[in-house]
Amino acid sequence: MNFINESAWKYLSVKLPILGAFLMLVLIPLLQWLTDYQIIPQQYHATVTGILIPALAWLGRKIAQPKLHQQPLGFATITAGHSNTDPGAVSGKIKEADLVVNFRNAVTHYLREAGLQVKTDGTGSRNDPLSSAIKLIKGSSVAVEFHMNAATSKQANGVETIALPKDKKLAQDLSKTVADALGSRLRGDNGWIDQSKSARGRLAYVNAGGLIVELGFISNEDELARFNARYWLAAKAVAKVLIDYESRN
Ligand SMILES: [Zn+2]
Repeated sequence: MNFINESAWKYLSVKLPILGAFLMLVLIPLLQWLTDYQIIPQQYHATVTGILIPALAWLGRKIAQPKLHQQPLGFATITAGHSNTDPGAVSGKIKEADLVVNFRNAVTHYLREAGLQVKTDGTGSRNDPLSSAIKLIKGSSVAVEFHMNAATSKQANGVETIALPKDKKLAQDLSKTVADALGSRLRGDNGWIDQSKSARGRLAYVNAGGLIVELGFISNEDELARFNARYWLAAKAVAKVLIDYESRN
């Protein structure tokens, strides 16, 4: 026999029959008295005692207990920009898609370690396309995708997060924690870029409620070197911001 791993006490179908059993302690002498004095006929004695407990069990099963069906915390969606077939920005042999897959895996590692449920657009080196990433956003409590910026000027640098105005604070917190870990500066409004002002215009991922973190410029040699040296630290810091955010919501 295997026991179900839960407390049976929360169910009314367990509680009510136990209540019924206690009632019987009172009810049986009462019925005895009633039949002894012929107030109710003898034959009803067994019927009343026989029906009470099954009836209470049935009632306990039927009464809705919505709290029993509430899901625990939602899940976080953590995805990597681009895909296995779209490398994104490229600097020599280094591809944006590869860097952000590593970053996605690191953030996911720290979130799961903290006990959060995480959905990703792939594990290991797998990186599903944007359309799959967007499908994950629905139902998630927060959704973040990682990218690297690129510019013709090799001097361009900094961290920014593109998000809807409602997520401005979280966007700024994410950018700041990445910038601090990598020794970079913030772009935009303290690290937040309204998607209407983003160079890429309206982004499907952001429209669906996600945030896009641009971790730095792949085209900037110094920033790329700092990213490679410290991205695990930055990923851990990002996970911390998301854990704090989830615990507040
Ligand atoms: Zn990108």
